[in-house]
Amino acid sequence: MSGLDEVISRLRDAIIVLDSEQCITQWLGSAERLLGYSEADVVGRNIDDLLRPMDSNGNEACLGPQGPPAMLRISKGMPEREALVVTKSGETLWIGVTAGFEHDDNGGVSSTVLVARDITRRKTVDLAKSEVISAVSHELRSPLSSVKGFTQTLLHKWDRFDDDTKKHLLTTINYDADRVTRLITELLDISRLEAGRLQLRKTSVDLVALATDVISRIQPRAEMHKLDSEFPAKFPEVFADRDKIEQVLTNLLENAVKYTEKGDVMVRGSFDDTEVKVTVADQGEGIPKEHRIQVFGKFFRRGERPGNPSGTGLGLYISKGLVEAHGGKIWVDDAAKTGAAFRFTLPLAEKSRQ
Ligand code: ADP
Repeated sequence: MSGLDEVISRLRDAIIVLDSEQCITQWLGSAERLLGYSEADVVGRNIDDLLRPMDSNGNEACLGPQGPPAMLRISKGMPEREALVVTKSGETLWIGVTAGFEHDDNGGVSSTVLVARDITRRKTVDLAKSEVISAVSHELRSPLSSVKGFTQTLLHKWDRFDDDTKKHLLTTINYDADRVTRLITELLDISRLEAGRLQLRKTSVDLVALATDVISRIQPRAEMHKLDSEFPAKFPEVFADRDKIEQVLTNLLENAVKYTEKGDVMVRGSFDDTEVKVTVADQGEGIPKEHRIQVFGKFFRRGERPGNPSGTGLGLYISKGLVEAHGGKIWVDDAAKTGAAFRFTLPLAEKSRQ
């Protein structure tokens, strides 16, 4: 191997040379590592028959020179295009391809040099981002539509409503506005947590009062559920960021209501010398063992079925981040009879210990 061949063989990019018929004449650089085929497998084969490229919309694509002949006659190459190709082992791979042309005396393309690199990671992140944007937009739109709709109704029909109806509409507006704020806070918290920049504003927090607060906010919206709490006497206060723990409790309680048709939802507390434990137990389907770690992952949602409650798959991920930022743990197991029991712990500050 000459010095130059050796350098080329160490490239991260695949270099593929095509003849005027888009058949492979050289297969260099990381082509074999990336696509699985050896040079002997591919020389003489048409590149598109071999790799079966598709574009981002799932349509068949071509890797060789494309465009009107007049354009190709003067063009020296093509900017990067993205394509999903099939490797020798049958796996799919996103590649970014640039092309440089050589022309014959008539101005036709006599050979093409393709430079391809693996962009699977970038593509996966791009796809995940657009899914998140659509999920988040959906989650923002529904409470905002309700805020807008009810406000408009109140403005137009103020005199026709009695006080109770007005109060009911305003409570709904208030609740939905809180939901929007919470979602935005969560998104900001995620970027802060991931950058290690989340600041906790810790004070003494009475979890018993906090649980009662969260329950009284959610109960009016959960007609098929009975929410309640049970804490032992002398339950110690924790040194924590009240808003963040409220966010965790809200997420767990809203999920308990959202993912169960009906039944009791219980918040229970317990404590020992070093920590407090809070459990939110429902009477729904529960979470099967194989998903008990995954549900805390970013964007994880179980079974995307039509008619399933909507969501972003971020609530438990952020709850885990917030609990862990306090030095606690969060996990899920079976509730006593049926359903899921989400549990989290928070360490007791020195001064709370007796
Ligand atoms: P989201 O509710 O936005 O989907 P979460 O991170 O809060 O996101 O929850 C992730 C997934 O875990 C949900 O999509 C749901 O499938 C499952 N899940 C969460 N809480 C419960 C529960 N109490 N009972 C059953 N499944 C649950």
